[in-house]
Amino acid sequence: MAMLKTIKVTCTGAAHHVNEIDLDKLLKPVIVTRSATPPQIQEVPARSVLHCQFCPEGKVVITRAMVEDATA
Ligand SMILES: [Zn+2]
Repeated sequence: MAMLKTIKVTCTGAAHHVNEIDLDKLLKPVIVTRSATPPQIQEVPARSVLHCQFCPEGKVVITRAMVEDATA
């Protein structure tokens, strides 16, 4: 359950900075209404766009497939 994962994503800026993305910040926990629900459910957004940590023009795009690859 406590899987702390980061993925590396290059920004769209000219310098292609490598940003380390903390998946825990990307996943939003789903409210569990029944105790029978498996505990590992977290909702991965289909697509997240973050700002590059190193340059003002770069964006970092994280898709659900990338997250699933990293956590598989
Ligand atoms: Zn950048």
